[in-house]
Amino acid sequence: MNLTYSPDAEKFRDEVREFLRQNLPEDWRGFGALDNEAAEAFSREWRRTLYEHGLLGLSWPVAYGGGGRSKVDQIVLAEELARAQVPSGRVTDTTTVKMMGNTLVRWGTEEQKQRFIPRILSGEDVWVQGFSEPDSGSDLASAGLRARLEGDEWVISGQKIWTSRAHEGDWIFLLARTDPDRPKHRGLSFLLCPMDQPGVEVRPIRVLSGQTEFAEVYFTDARTPAENIIGEVHGGWAVATSLLSFERGEEAATNPIYFKAELDRLIDLARQQGRDCDPVIRDRLAWCFTRVEVMRFLGYRILTDYLRSGNLGPAASISKLYWSEYHQVASDLALNLLGAAAMIREGRRPFKHFRTDEPGAPNTTNSWLDVALLNARSGTVYAGTSQIQRNIIGESILGLPKEPPVAAAPR
Ligand SMILES: Cc1cc2nc3c(=O)[nH]c(=O)nc-3n(C[C@H](O)[C@H](O)[C@H](O)COP(=O)(O)OP(=O)(O)OC[C@H]3O[C@@H](n4cnc5c(N)ncnc54)[C@H](O)[C@@H]3O)c2cc1C
Repeated sequence: MNLTYSPDAEKFRDEVREFLRQNLPEDWRGFGALDNEAAEAFSREWRRTLYEHGLLGLSWPVAYGGGGRSKVDQIVLAEELARAQVPSGRVTDTTTVKMMGNTLVRWGTEEQKQRFIPRILSGEDVWVQGFSEPDSGSDLASAGLRARLEGDEWVISGQKIWTSRAHEGDWIFLLARTDPDRPKHRGLSFLLCPMDQPGVEVRPIRVLSGQTEFAEVYFTDARTPAENIIGEVHGGWAVATSLLSFERGEEAATNPIYFKAELDRLIDLARQQGRDCDPVIRDRLAWCFTRVEVMRFLGYRILTDYLRSGNLGPAASISKLYWSEYHQVASDLALNLLGAAAMIREGRRPFKHFRTDEPGAPNTTNSWLDVALLNARSGTVYAGTSQIQRNIIGESILGLPKEPPVAAAPR
């Protein structure tokens, strides 16, 4: 591990800090300190500010509206935004910028880049992810949504599920079965489909918190032009797997910052509840502290490899497993500290629906309840479950024998 930034990267860090000084209010206490309505308004405005200053798509080519800077600068920017407690985009930008934008830069044709990337950066198009299906989650390669070429259009039929923010999507990227007779990994294509058409129906799924964050998306002879495919026909698996790694890109740098901010809030909560001198609570807080420190060094290790090779590699699975399992224990501690008070909901709900609440969030029951009961629970499921991460670590890092293949269930 040797994570030292070059003088150029440090110079860029100073520029970002100056930008933040000039563009954030003087009394800024963190994105989490805003109430939900103000946070939504702020995040839209802030995204525009980032865009206007060339800080969205920072490492993408200038020809498509990107910043043309290095991956190191991209990491430096992510670190500084997290430290300043401001978001790096809107909530839909995980799928729009990080997943779809980076995939287009890596795999798109010249025409696709020219057409889609500027609209992604400007915020005109929101993209959502159509990978999971009722019978294909961990075993994504068994996806069964069908697409066939009819003249100059793909005709798509089937169902996707757990599509985050589907109701906000202008476009959905799909893993679709284009040849059922080939081996499962080799019969899939990566298609881009407009959502606003009669053949696409979004049915919201209401979750325990009462929110409708996810949806099922039904396709009944939905249509998209033949050229809306990324990569080769039947070559979608390689595109899909590279897209999944983009989701993890900056996490190695930002996770330790977010989890440290959450731990500070947890320590404050112990003080507020008069439990900070309780030896059992102190022991549990110390455990959390050591975990967050280890997370920081794990992040350095992953970043060192990433900046050297340009790839995240299987070590990213260690990080995913580590933070997601840590978070369930830490947020349980918050509920223990709140005790019976946790049954009375007060304060705003977390603005961010995955992982920690935003830095600067108040120690309200609503914030901790939703984080502990919902967000932290989902952390060991989305982006590859803990069991799948353990399989990857076992096979790709420890060199253990591969899992025997399981025959697909009859449909
Ligand atoms: C918050 C959140 C947001 C999401 N957003 C999206 C989205 O926008 N778009 C999208 O397409 N999907 C999305 N998903 C879906 C997510 O990708 C899947 O839930 C995940 O891949 C697991 O698939 P599954 O739910 O079908 O579980 P399954 O794959 O059915 O797994 C069930 C259980 O079996 C275990 N298991 C499965 N296979 C193995 C194996 N080989 N070895 C050992 N154990 C195994 C799993 O670990 C799990 O415990 C989201 C999920 C969450 C929680």
